[in-house]
Amino acid sequence: MVINFAAGPAKLPEEVLKEAQENLLNCNGTGISVMEMSHRSSNYAKIQETAINDLRELLNIPSNYKILLMQGGGTGQFAAVCFNLIGRTGIADYVVTGSWSAKAAKEAEQYGKVNLVIPKAAKYTTVPTQDTWKLDPNASYIYYCDNETVDGVEFDFVPEITNGVPLVCDMSSNFLSRPVDVTKFGLIFAGAQKNIGPAGVTVVIIREDLIGQHIKQTPSVLNFALMDKNASLLNTPPTFCIYLMGLVFKWIKRNGGIAGMEKTAAAKSKLIYDVIEQSNGFYSCPVEKRVRSRMNVPFRIGSSEGVDALEKEFLAKAESQGMIQLKGHRSVGGIRASLYNAITVAETEQLAKLLKEFAQNNK
Ligand code: PMP
Repeated sequence: MVINFAAGPAKLPEEVLKEAQENLLNCNGTGISVMEMSHRSSNYAKIQETAINDLRELLNIPSNYKILLMQGGGTGQFAAVCFNLIGRTGIADYVVTGSWSAKAAKEAEQYGKVNLVIPKAAKYTTVPTQDTWKLDPNASYIYYCDNETVDGVEFDFVPEITNGVPLVCDMSSNFLSRPVDVTKFGLIFAGAQKNIGPAGVTVVIIREDLIGQHIKQTPSVLNFALMDKNASLLNTPPTFCIYLMGLVFKWIKRNGGIAGMEKTAAAKSKLIYDVIEQSNGFYSCPVEKRVRSRMNVPFRIGSSEGVDALEKEFLAKAESQGMIQLKGHRSVGGIRASLYNAITVAETEQLAKLLKEFAQNNK
């Protein structure tokens, strides 16, 4: 048995993969696979529409928000957000709390003036409270990343913006893991490959009035107005990814919806953080408690010397028990357990058990 704690591409619900397998050669009675279907056919249209409608229902997305399905991943959106929204003033606010928001800010610097709202951090371990932020009143938008996948830093609040500047949020790695008041945002995007599907499709939720403000040079595939006008069928979409994402949405609906995902996310992350906290320093998580991610739990093993050897030993032990892809991101090292929606409480309990045993045996 394998338990896949990968940070993304990540585990998908087994039920969903089995359903896709059963339908692989004959999708919805058409006699062909979804990958062989014209993206302009009525059979495919039904698949895409159903996915979009289910997402709207799950997240309670109001009718003045459009849902676009795009390509280019989260990284594509770093550029798309800029092309489409920075034109109004040429300035944008970036709240950099981890390596993904840092990358987004760097991308934006190519197209406009970036104001860093909080001081540059040597290490990403917190989200400064909003009273310390230095927002630019002339910003075209305010950008942040709700969950920093590499650093394990997750916002514990939605920024309050009172001057009408649109709030833009990268929710790639905690999408559909807790309720979101969409009306507080101008734009939310999420790459699929963590909580909602295979790599290849990115969901963009955008308030209608923000569509059409793109700068002239905006590439067509990154242009929200063109994507919207063409119902995300401007060019050939990643049809298989969208199909699979639709199956994941149905799975979430069957499993208690977003409230169900939020409940298990809290239970799973508590299991691991509790072991870390109760290990008398054998395990350590550098992230401030208030903003510890429920999705990605990064931690180190042992005191500063000998850390690498113990961590290697732990990873080998975990692998021998089928628990894989636990190695931390190459930029920060250590261990990272990713506990996305498809990871069960029972699977997380197994990891917690191993963590306790490993600490006992190596004291
Ligand atoms: N944002 C976040 C929060 C991420 O975790 C990632 C990495 N998957 C990205 C953006 C970049 O996504 P992609 O690799 O799809 O470009």
